[in-house]
Amino acid sequence: MQFKNIIGQQAIKNRLIQSVQNERLPHAQLFYEHEGSGGLALAVAYAQYANCLNPGPDDSCGTCSACHKINKLIHPDIHFAVPTAADSKREKLARTSDYAGIWQQSFLNNPYLNLNDWFADLNFETNKQLFLSVEESADIIKKLSYKNFEARYKFCIIWCPEKWNTSAANALLKLIEEPPPATIFILVTEHYDQIISTILSRTQLVKIPRLTQDELITVLQAEQIPIEKQASLIHLSNGSYRLLQDLMHESQDDNYATDFLVWMRLCFNPIKTYAPLLNWIEGFVKKKREQQKHYFAFCMETCRECLLINYADTSMVRFTDNQFKGLSAFAPYINQNNASEFVQLFSDALYHIDRNANAKIMLLDLSFKIAKLMKIR
Ligand SMILES: [Zn+2]
Repeated sequence: MQFKNIIGQQAIKNRLIQSVQNERLPHAQLFYEHEGSGGLALAVAYAQYANCLNPGPDDSCGTCSACHKINKLIHPDIHFAVPTAADSKREKLARTSDYAGIWQQSFLNNPYLNLNDWFADLNFETNKQLFLSVEESADIIKKLSYKNFEARYKFCIIWCPEKWNTSAANALLKLIEEPPPATIFILVTEHYDQIISTILSRTQLVKIPRLTQDELITVLQAEQIPIEKQASLIHLSNGSYRLLQDLMHESQDDNYATDFLVWMRLCFNPIKTYAPLLNWIEGFVKKKREQQKHYFAFCMETCRECLLINYADTSMVRFTDNQFKGLSAFAPYINQNNASEFVQLFSDALYHIDRNANAKIMLLDLSFKIAKLMKIR
């Protein structure tokens, strides 16, 4: 991964390059990004630049043996820790090294991947929760205790540190505070507020901003997206290249929006439509847990969009034309008198899904609560 392969973020790139050139690499950094800003890709490009045998003024060479190995994610001194889960069927512990091949493929396939993408690639059954385990911490401690094989700087890139359970994080605190010489920790998160304070206090914060309009236009031009579509895609993507990828390839949110309207119709009079509602719920519980969470996050977003349609300038609505068409008729059902309760219901649902609630019972209950709320006009 070279800096030139990462969209925009020139200020961050300069800062990272400068730290290598001055040989002043902070030993523990927290990359705080918005989804799709390239935090993980920047971490890998940084590790590559710091270890390139023939670095240029603004990028690694891309051809030396170190670049070659880091590019393929097979360098023995560049370690990753990403959320996983144990899998007795495949005889795997909850450690990145147990899934190294899949991780390598996932990242190389899309360096802007998000946790949903990673979960899908792991191909777990739907009720698995991904986390950073005590075994993972033990693995990191072991790997970092070896002398560097060949690198100038050993890197440990930890993705989604908010997924650490407390004891696993505590096991690493000392190491993060005082790593062995020439060892660099990079933690990459989208959820700064969920990182435990003892980690925050031991890392230097690097804020990675959303991609700018100009940066995204460059992408759309390279993808030969017609000019008349560009403005709406940029508006919808909200500075996330990951989201833009979805939007460019017929976003799954188009399906979510259709699905949301189907569900709301069934909720309108759930006694009358009990059988199809149960069918809808059966379909929903078959989805992967991470997808279910994503769906409820989408529902919360939809409440906001409904309020915008009802009361504000519709140019601020982020949905695509297709989504907007269906939603504008429904929007009055979510209004100033019930919107906060709607959001609370979806937020509770997300919370319960995250804690392994019985999704079928929860959704049935939720559907009846929605039926009540929709009567408030
Ligand atoms: Zn190189």
